[in-house]
Amino acid sequence: MFIDGCFWHGCPQHFVPPRANADYWQPKIERNRERDREAVARLDAAGWVALRFWEHEEPSSVAAVINAVVSAR
Ligand SMILES: [Zn+2]
Repeated sequence: MFIDGCFWHGCPQHFVPPRANADYWQPKIERNRERDREAVARLDAAGWVALRFWEHEEPSSVAAVINAVVSAR
């Protein structure tokens, strides 16, 4: 499982692109998101279930999802 930071992984609810050095930050965040998708695809291909959550999510909700996924397997 991954807990993704809202800034570093481009949370759709909280990510605000920095005004300074936008040419640097925008591709960097996009590359992080691309790497996230690649990691999930690689884990999936290897038979793992990759779960990703945002840092803003309630820990109890995250735990409930993990519990449900583990129980189902
Ligand atoms: Zn967020």
